[in-house]
Amino acid sequence: MTKYVFVTGGVVSGLGKGITASSLALLLKSRGYKVFMQKFDPYVNVDPGTMSPLQHGEVFVTADGCETDLDLGHYERFIDEELNYTSNITTGKIYSSVIEKERRGDYLGGTVQIVPHVTNEIKQKVYEAGTSSNADIVITEIGGTIGDIESLAFLEALRQVQYEQGKENVFFVHTTLVPFIYGSNELKTKPTQHSVIELRRVGIQPDMIVCRAPVSLDVSMKQKISMFCDVSVDYVIDSVDVKNIYEIPINYYKQKADERLLSQLQLPKRKINLSNWLKLIDIVDNLTQEIEIALVGKYVGLHDAYLSVVESLRHAGYYHNVKIKINWIDSEELVKQQNLDKVFANTKGIIVPGGFGSRGIEGMIKAVNYARINNIPFLGICLGMQVAVIEFARNVCHIDNASSTEFDELCNNPIIDLMTDQKSIINKGGTLRLGNYECHIKKGTLAYQDYGISTIYERHRHRYEFNNQYKAQLEKNGMIFSGINPGSNLVEIIELPNHPHFIACQFHPEFKSRPNRCHPLFNSFIKASKKHNK
Ligand code: GLN
Repeated sequence: MTKYVFVTGGVVSGLGKGITASSLALLLKSRGYKVFMQKFDPYVNVDPGTMSPLQHGEVFVTADGCETDLDLGHYERFIDEELNYTSNITTGKIYSSVIEKERRGDYLGGTVQIVPHVTNEIKQKVYEAGTSSNADIVITEIGGTIGDIESLAFLEALRQVQYEQGKENVFFVHTTLVPFIYGSNELKTKPTQHSVIELRRVGIQPDMIVCRAPVSLDVSMKQKISMFCDVSVDYVIDSVDVKNIYEIPINYYKQKADERLLSQLQLPKRKINLSNWLKLIDIVDNLTQEIEIALVGKYVGLHDAYLSVVESLRHAGYYHNVKIKINWIDSEELVKQQNLDKVFANTKGIIVPGGFGSRGIEGMIKAVNYARINNIPFLGICLGMQVAVIEFARNVCHIDNASSTEFDELCNNPIIDLMTDQKSIINKGGTLRLGNYECHIKKGTLAYQDYGISTIYERHRHRYEFNNQYKAQLEKNGMIFSGINPGSNLVEIIELPNHPHFIACQFHPEFKSRPNRCHPLFNSFIKASKKHNK
């Protein structure tokens, strides 16, 4: 039977609820439990796919092609389990489904209401995560902050889950902020007390309170929170600011957070094995050499827009024993820059990640050109591959006005064009080429050297593709098409010989990198960048 853990947040957003949920999940998995994770996002969008990355951060894509919140990236990186479409539920998804049922006549004769129809739909998503994953424990994080209007239906549904499943099968973790007030120089518990009152107002009593604080909470502080919030003092856990997020699970472990949770859920403690995780922390804490990687993109104003890319660079850094310093370069600004030698003075590798729309494209092309001509290791991802091909077409093959129909619908040389099966699609939401697709890798290429196998599956999120009509011409000029989708002939990987390291892919390798197992393409990119450093 599956047990359910719900993680809510109070006081402010950005407390690291996702990391809290992931850390607990990691500890439970390290004790041999099968854990599955889920996030509820109370916004009305059906998925984050239509939101600006500058507002929402990156869209994480699961293997089965679901566009999800970036917290799912943390989940997958911490627990190393593939999540799926049951893992990210929004108000938009819930209401679409309820309205579809109403139109179909499923509720004939009834008045459709928030309680029970909407809450039933939410509960069904919780239970579905349990049954489809067959997990011992499902951990569901609820986005937003307690008190938000949008989350009310979700919280009511969770209250009902506890009512239906019993207190021994459902566990509520509430994360809050314990601020330090300068002047009086003390930590304050009042915001935590108030947010627990808000939670109780909707009928939920937290079982555990995780307090984000700049320093550890002493016993008297924990006792105060315990008394006011009616949570046993052993279940008040502090979450202090750390320099490396991988330390957080260990911090919870030391406070026995996972043991308490298991005890309340009446599950045996089981032996824990954290050796790999401790090894990782040791590596991260002892990196000596630092290398600078230039990340050229249009969303650099919000670093979360490239979260998985940055994490993947770091993972490869752990593998090669180097600390990665990112030089964030706004591609729109780069267009105006005269002196690129100055911009890239300390750069050992250039990466151009994914993106949408025409803004900032010429700056990306300029960066690719600089990397190609100056023999700087280059990795292009999705849009990054598309601009790399355009740069090559324009400057090596001399194809005038080579572009993508995404930026210039009427361009006379559409090197990148809308995929054929996209041409009849009108709706923007959920209609990209999404999730895992097969790619065959040509032997003797850099890609083959990186992967060491000839069939790979990688996650995608795009609408445009390389236009195969130009393939022969680009090949003649030296570009190697090293990865191809066998069914559609779609170009998945390109590379350039006679360059220390120049490779780009149509898919998103960053979604499959793990802290203990860096992705082959990031691995070789950082290896080459480290070498360039010498
Ligand atoms: N905008 C491009 C496309 O839709 C690239 C997408 C991406 O980088 N994720 O094909």
